[in-house]
Amino acid sequence: MRRIMLSVCACLVAVLGMVRAANPAAVAAHPADAFITADPSAPLDGFSVDSARAERAWESKFRALPDPAILRSTMQRITARPHHVGTEYDRSNAEWILSLFRAWGWDAHIENFEVLFPTPKERRVELIEPTHFQATLDEPTVPADPTSDQHAEQLPTYNAYSIDGDVTAPLVYVNFGMPEDYEQLARLGISVKGAIVIARYGESWRGIKPKVAAEHGAVGCIIYSDPHEDGYFRGDVFPAGPWRPAAGAQRGSVMDMVLYPGDPLTPGVGASPGAHRLPLAEAPTLTKIPVLPISYGDAQPLLSALGGPVAPEAWRGSLPITYHVGPGAARVHLQVKSNWNTQTVHDVIARIPGADSPEEWILRGNHEDAWVNGAEDPVSGLVDELEEARSLGELRKQGWKPRRTIIYCVWDGEEPGLLGSTEWAEEHAEELRRHAVVYLNSDSMGRGYLDAGGSHTLEKFVNGVARDIEDPETHLSVWKRLQLQLIARGKREEREEARTRPDWRLDALGSGSDYTVFLDHLGVASLDLGYSGEDGGGIYHSIYDDFYWYTHFGDTDFSYGRAMAQTAGTAVLRLADADLLPFDFTDFADTIHTYSESLKQLLNDRREATVERNREIDEGVFTATLDPRQTSLPPAREDPPPYLNFAPLDNAAQALARSAALYQKALEKARSGGAAAWARASLQQVNETLIESERQLTRPEGLPGRPWFKHQIYAPGFYTGYEVKTLPAVREAIEQKKWREADAALVDIGKILDAESALIRRAAEELESATK
Ligand SMILES: [Zn+2]
Repeated sequence: MRRIMLSVCACLVAVLGMVRAANPAAVAAHPADAFITADPSAPLDGFSVDSARAERAWESKFRALPDPAILRSTMQRITARPHHVGTEYDRSNAEWILSLFRAWGWDAHIENFEVLFPTPKERRVELIEPTHFQATLDEPTVPADPTSDQHAEQLPTYNAYSIDGDVTAPLVYVNFGMPEDYEQLARLGISVKGAIVIARYGESWRGIKPKVAAEHGAVGCIIYSDPHEDGYFRGDVFPAGPWRPAAGAQRGSVMDMVLYPGDPLTPGVGASPGAHRLPLAEAPTLTKIPVLPISYGDAQPLLSALGGPVAPEAWRGSLPITYHVGPGAARVHLQVKSNWNTQTVHDVIARIPGADSPEEWILRGNHEDAWVNGAEDPVSGLVDELEEARSLGELRKQGWKPRRTIIYCVWDGEEPGLLGSTEWAEEHAEELRRHAVVYLNSDSMGRGYLDAGGSHTLEKFVNGVARDIEDPETHLSVWKRLQLQLIARGKREEREEARTRPDWRLDALGSGSDYTVFLDHLGVASLDLGYSGEDGGGIYHSIYDDFYWYTHFGDTDFSYGRAMAQTAGTAVLRLADADLLPFDFTDFADTIHTYSESLKQLLNDRREATVERNREIDEGVFTATLDPRQTSLPPAREDPPPYLNFAPLDNAAQALARSAALYQKALEKARSGGAAAWARASLQQVNETLIESERQLTRPEGLPGRPWFKHQIYAPGFYTGYEVKTLPAVREAIEQKKWREADAALVDIGKILDAESALIRRAAEELESATK
């Protein structure tokens, strides 16, 4: 999974929206970054002068190895048949991948887990009044596309972990089905109590839609793909173009993953055969109401039958109809029944032992399972990971030995709910807490710009890697290309920042791929990398996401796949070989400052909006301007948000900035000490402290109401799903108007950041004494 919609850079824009003024002294900090200079003696963060030279030599050898022809043939092999969880081809892929790792000299094995994985038994959506229409719920063969006819092995269109149900009720259109959509419905005088809602895909992760619908009393939920989001409004539809055809539907999980991902029956522990399991009826992450996804071909007759008011302008999609909200005469029958079976997921785990610090682990992962053939999602990322593994095996034959242990993981069961990665990491939680340095993830990708998200202690590191990778089409460095895109797209402040800040900003990670358990549950510093932005498409989670589609409309010559293998592989090499782990705290402290400012802005904006609305209610604005012949209710009066005490967060953010500067100073001093100082130094203690820096950002008791999510800086939003909430305990309390909780969370986050500052100061002292 991974894509929310197609505007992949939406989160980047959101982060830039809260940027503060950049440092003008940094103007043109890296004028030489446009093209790759490949200067073998250029300094490298975390390496002494001598070790940097050796490292750069190995890295250039490495980057010459990934081969687009191999990427292509590997994709063809893995996507030849549908390979969702529990299929013969899913198992066959795992075994084939295991044999590859072994042939490349890795120590590899398969680990199995037994997970709950429902598959559809009965599915029905029909309009029963005012006319009859039966939805096809079927994606037909496209003659040009050779794997689209493998119907016997394809999972039908459905939403996994929907409860069983059989309901008949009036239909109401709820736009994207976000909480604010229901506020607007209330003002139109429309309730969804006892209704079936129809929501369009987009804005939130799909699992949020039935959750919010159920909270408002709906009895069923239909999710459809409007052509506005990924169909003909965007471009030509498949097979003439890459966008979603009328019968294309989006499968996907609706498990309530913001409570906890992974097997619903074994929260917090690995789903091994003997693990304690919840009874199915008590699994809290199943939906509360039945859900099914449909195509826009199937949705149009349902939407056309709706009566009631015309939908607000922002709610209208691109179907050739007048969108109504409902309910009117339309009544719908929705039936969902699944086989609630246990299936085996097969994770492939492969290792190269570290020569000097084997107890420090660099982890890398991508999933293998797909909803159907899955060329883009996930095999476009998987083949790059495998090509890195082949190339690292090649380097070892030439004499390269990584300082740290490298572990490559190929996850199964990601699509239903991050099953393979979550269960493996829960099973090995104790070891991972002790040994894991960084987890580097990838998933679907294509042509375009580097997409980088992750822990901000690694922001400087990722910028450094991106400066050494060449964009295959413009031959600029991928760093430069992204910087120029930020300038082209940004508003004035963002343009200025892109020009002057030495590093572009990493996106914060929410959820939607396998990094979730590492970052959010275990506090392992994580990265999620990919390329995207120039090959949109509407085949996400459909039978048309296959080799034919990818080689006609995706990264057709696999040149970005090669760039991806070079990017992630260079990152792995550098992390595995560095004398001193390349964590940095100045960008991290700057990021925390922007988050803290954005929280204040959020509260202020809410206050101003509430005061203004109350004033308009008093002035009679709504009663005067609402059309008396239409149902349209004035908003309710609300108390404006109180003033919250941001002092604990502000003080902690300042202390963090001071500690980060101290560490930076120690680092520069160590660097100027020259190679001799580094050679004498035992950096092991500093490295151990640096590894702890991300763990320190977690709390054992987790976030309010969801103890599995332990990270206090990043979390997927409780009402957005994939989309991140930064400083989530505070931000979500403000959004949900829980003022007392918000004030308490500000004190807690202050303590977390104070402890982080103390840890960074300790690392600075340890570094100074080690390199004296
Ligand atoms: Zn995926």
